[in-house]
Amino acid sequence: MCGIVGYIGDGSAAPAILDGLRALEYRGYDSAGLAVLTAEGLSVRRRAGRIDDLALLIDDELMSSAIGIGHTRWATHGAVTDNNAHPHADASGRLVIVHNGMTDNVTELRAELLADGHRFASETDTEVIAHLIGIQRDAGASLTDAVGRTLRRLAGAHSVLALAADEPDLLVGGRVGSAGGLVVGHGSSEAFLASDLPAVVRHTRNLQVVEAGETVTLRTDGAEFQDLNSRPRHRRLFSVPWGPMAAAKAGHRHFMHKEIHEQPETLADTIRPRVTLDPAELRLHDFQLPVDAKAVDRAVIVASGSSNFAGMVGARYLRDLARIPASAEVASEFAYAPGPLSDRTLIVAISQSGATADVLLAVERARDAGAPVVALVNTVGSELTRTADATLNLHAGPEISVAATKTFVSQLGALYLLACHVGEQRNILPADQLARRLADIAHAPLAVARALEIEPQIEDLARRFHDAVNFLYMGRGLAHAIALEGALKLKEISYIHAEGFAAGELKHGPIALVSPDMPVVAVALNDELRAKTLNAVAQTRSRNGRVILVATEGDDLEDGIADEVIIVPGTPSLIAPITSVIPLQLFAYHIAVWLGVDVDQPRNLAKSVTVE
Ligand code: GLU
Repeated sequence: MCGIVGYIGDGSAAPAILDGLRALEYRGYDSAGLAVLTAEGLSVRRRAGRIDDLALLIDDELMSSAIGIGHTRWATHGAVTDNNAHPHADASGRLVIVHNGMTDNVTELRAELLADGHRFASETDTEVIAHLIGIQRDAGASLTDAVGRTLRRLAGAHSVLALAADEPDLLVGGRVGSAGGLVVGHGSSEAFLASDLPAVVRHTRNLQVVEAGETVTLRTDGAEFQDLNSRPRHRRLFSVPWGPMAAAKAGHRHFMHKEIHEQPETLADTIRPRVTLDPAELRLHDFQLPVDAKAVDRAVIVASGSSNFAGMVGARYLRDLARIPASAEVASEFAYAPGPLSDRTLIVAISQSGATADVLLAVERARDAGAPVVALVNTVGSELTRTADATLNLHAGPEISVAATKTFVSQLGALYLLACHVGEQRNILPADQLARRLADIAHAPLAVARALEIEPQIEDLARRFHDAVNFLYMGRGLAHAIALEGALKLKEISYIHAEGFAAGELKHGPIALVSPDMPVVAVALNDELRAKTLNAVAQTRSRNGRVILVATEGDDLEDGIADEVIIVPGTPSLIAPITSVIPLQLFAYHIAVWLGVDVDQPRNLAKSVTVE
């Protein structure tokens, strides 16, 4: 959930660590800290607040060090205070750690240590872990073995990084369970360790991944891996294609704005390498369904947040295009009550980062029951790609803003292709129908580009509506998922309360809330439910509700049907969710800008949610 960075080499550690932390700030940003080893011993600087606040604490003494660790926190145990910021030391003060994760058995462990006379300076579980590592070292273990043995005692999922004054030429990283990643990067005379690629790829593309249940001992000239029982392990070196430029803002005020505007290209990157139109062919080169499509009797899409709403659309794609009973389930719910599963239940797990703890757990449960798992991720080499049977990569490029936009749209594109693929294999889609469906999706990037042209209108709407404190979002069928996503976007980045619901439910409850102070955003796609959604709009307006209607080009709308009408380009109905989400993304963005909110790093949220 947080960001971890380590540096060892012939340069100055502190700037390299700060630079890495900035690249990871999207993961957690309530506090930041670092520790380096100098001739005087360990020096720690940490504080609640942003990385720029931490940078102010770096002095010449710190700059002289060539080894250190850093952290940007997303608090789970203990308030957001200077004292709880990482790094944390053991009882001796000779070793420090940074930590990502949360310790489910911290109460027992802390009680045990308190009974043995340990005293703690913070409220964090991390400090308990540091003390446990210290105890192992007092008993004679090396830093590496001490980290491994301690990880074995922790319930929950964790990544740690440790630095000890008396082992001055190495850093030790370790992982247990799936709490974010841990990646090693090898430069020419320096090495890096970080929880995610953006912190490392700016320096080197030569990487190794630390797997769960492993430690890594990192020196300037190489890395040694072992399991938690100190048995050696081998990890292969690989290279990643993303360059650092892809992660820059490219002239946009916020990453979110850049990512919204990239969507025509990123959606094309998801679709076009896999689709040809003449002859019409769908080629998922890098993907093979891990089960005979004809044997599948049900599909369940598991995901969290925006991906879950993409999953709702995906379930409809599978029902319509592959004639498979399909549903979308919230991963954290599914994980604890998956219901009957078999080797004929196709699980589709969606996670932008490929590291979402709830999704990984859901997948674990599905695999235990023998169900084949397909992953949809945007992060090459992520945990989910290693646990699933097959992976469909989004190829949307790095998404930095915490609120998902381009990956949501690419998920819709990838789910559509997956449904076509399964439909083709089940002989549901004959050649002519497949050709038509492929043409529909191949034209979607252009429709997205045209939908983006309505930005000036949306900016104006945001100016007029930004002072509302509540919003309702409604839609039916495919537009239901889009209404939910629109409401989530607004909540996430503007902190305005917004509730999304199926428009048919208006009369069963939400209508009681309708008033001129609570604007209603209605999404009416050009499909068989359009008229019914427009009825809900009429019911809202006859109760003095103010309605912003998202409708489709060519739709014959009565004058004055809504207070505001946003028109998106006309598309075949299955493609309409892809275009109709665009104005809702822009609306949330411009409202947040009006309110002066930190759009890319909204409070309390983190990009990769690696804790349960
Ligand atoms: N559980 C630790 C804390 O609350 C680590 C949280 C994180 O991953 O940032 O400080």
